[in-house]
Amino acid sequence: MVKKYGKRDSVVALSFDDGPDERYTPEILDILKAANVPAIFFVVGINVENNVGLLKRIYDEGHEIGNHTFTHPNLALVNPERTRVELQATRRIIESITGHSTILFRPPYNADSEPESMEELLPVEVGKEENYYTVAESIDPQDWSEGVTADTIVARVIQQDALGNIILLHDAGGDASRRSGRSRVSSRTSGSGGEGLWPCPSSWGRPGTRSCLPSLGTISCS
Ligand SMILES: [Zn+2]
Repeated sequence: MVKKYGKRDSVVALSFDDGPDERYTPEILDILKAANVPAIFFVVGINVENNVGLLKRIYDEGHEIGNHTFTHPNLALVNPERTRVELQATRRIIESITGHSTILFRPPYNADSEPESMEELLPVEVGKEENYYTVAESIDPQDWSEGVTADTIVARVIQQDALGNIILLHDAGGDASRRSGRSRVSSRTSGSGGEGLWPCPSSWGRPGTRSCLPSLGTISCS
C-alpha cells in the first residue's frame, strides 16, 4: 500500500537535485539567500565528495539536505545491495561534513509523486527499509530538457501549480539560461519574505536531523 502525506494549500517547496555543482550551486545559494527562501538539496554523494565546501555552505545557510544516492543509478535496475551501499555512502558523507544526518531520500529518475509502476515503487520500498522518507516531486518543469529557456521553466511551473507543492529543479547540469529560470522560479515562489515556502514545525525532526519536509510531501509504501 502506498501512502502519500503532506499536501498543503498555498505552500510550495523548492528542491534542487543532482548537485552540488561548482558552477551553479553557489549562484543558486546566493539567490536563495537574497530572497530569504529555504530549499532542499538532494545531493549526489560523488558530487559532494568533489564539493565539500558547498555542502557545508548549503547546511550553514539553513537549507535541508536529502540523499539522492552516491552515483545516481536507476535503482530499479540495480540490486538491493548496491542500493544500500549508495544510500549509506551518501548518508555518511553528509554526516561527516555537516555533523547531521538526513532522513530524506529522493530516488534518481523515478520521483513521481504518484508512483504506480514497479520501477517507481521499488526505490520507495528500499528507502523505507533504510529508514528514509521518500520525497517525490509533483511539479516538474523539466529544466534539464534540450533548449528549454528561463521563461519556459517559469511557465511550466505556473501551469502545473494545481498538481501539488514540491517543485523539482536541478543545480547541476544545464546552461545559464536554465539557471536563470531556476532563480526566477525561486523569487516567484518566495512570496512575501519567503513565507510562501514550506513551514518547519518544531515538532518535526528526529534527534540529529533538522528534517521537516515530511510534513509537506512524502510517500511511503508498506
Ligand atoms: Zn537526479
